Parts: sequence; structure tokens; C-alpha cells
Amino acid sequence: MSQEWNIRSRGHICSVCMKGLVDRTPVVSVLKETPSGYDRLDCHPECWKTCERDWEPFSQWDGVYFAPVKEAKKEPVKKEDAGELLRQLVALDDPEMKNVVYVLAVMLERSKILVERDAKTLDDGSIRRVYEDRKQGDTFVILDPRLRLENLAEVQQQVVALLSGTKTLGEVASEEEAAGNGEISSDEASEPQAD
Ligand SMILES: [Zn+2]
Repeated sequence: MSQEWNIRSRGHICSVCMKGLVDRTPVVSVLKETPSGYDRLDCHPECWKTCERDWEPFSQWDGVYFAPVKEAKKEPVKKEDAGELLRQLVALDDPEMKNVVYVLAVMLERSKILVERDAKTLDDGSIRRVYEDRKQGDTFVILDPRLRLENLAEVQQQVVALLSGTKTLGEVASEEEAAGNGEISSDEASEPQAD
């Protein structure tokens, strides 16, 4: 399902008044659910506060707008590779890779590349986490597969193998398929039942 794998770039003009956002000033970012995924709005805080709308945001947060810079400060190569891998995986849109995508996002959050902006529990009990790239401002809406702890190390090894180039995306995807993804089934994830 494509709505599990969404990237949305930060806008550079206000979605309400259509005027440019100013470098290093507050911005309200909003995700709006659409039939095909999410729309992203970035607005002046005053514009968001005063605009009329007949819908509720999926997610919304206060941030700071940073204008794009031509030559960003050099990051360690590995971090750039990890961010690029996440973009590839999200674009690949392969449900078999949901564990890998999630663990990679958590690793990038720990490396301060991404920041978690929101977490939503949907009606079906699944959790979507909204991550934002600190530097570029792109938004990733990622399914939390609620990995079992004993599967975590294995998925981390797969991520490391992908980053080091010892495994291809196709190899990891088939391993994930064979492993049945190690997720908690909906029965187990629901409230404990009395015998
Ligand atoms: Zn505005």
C-alpha cells in the first residue's frame, strides 16, 4: 500500500498565502490525508491559524524553515549513504522491506539525521511514524512494524549489509519474505484475552 511509504518534501512557499517562506523563521508543517497518501502543507503560523478549512490534519508540527543551501557542510559519508538508502527504499515501495525501512529510520533518528515529529495509531491498530529530515526538511511517513526484540538484531545486520554493499536490496527482500517479516500478528497485538 503506497500510503505506508511516503516522502513529502518541505515547501518553500506558504501553502496558504503562496508567499515565500523566510529563512530561519517559524513554519507550521501539516500532513493531510488523501486517497493516494498524504499532501504536505508548509505555512506561516499566522496563515495556518487564520485559514478556513473543513478537514482535520493527519499530523501537524511547529518547525523552523531553513532555505536550501548550495553546498551543505560535509557530513560523514556513511550518514549520506544511509539517508540515500532510506530514500531508495521508500521509493521502492516494497512491503517486504517494511522492517528494514523502519530500523533504518530509527538508526537515522539516533544519528540526528531525522527527527520524529509525530506518531499516529490508525483505526486498524497500525502505527505510522512521521520523520522529518533535519537538514532537507523532507517528510517520511513510515509504518512501525512493531518488531519483536529477537528480530531486531537480524534486521540491523541486513541494514548494515545494505550500507556496506555486501548485500543487494533484492537479496534482503527475499530474506525478509522467507522470514515472514517477524511481525506481531494482529491477534497477538490486541488486548490479552482471558482464557
Ligand atoms: Zn502565508
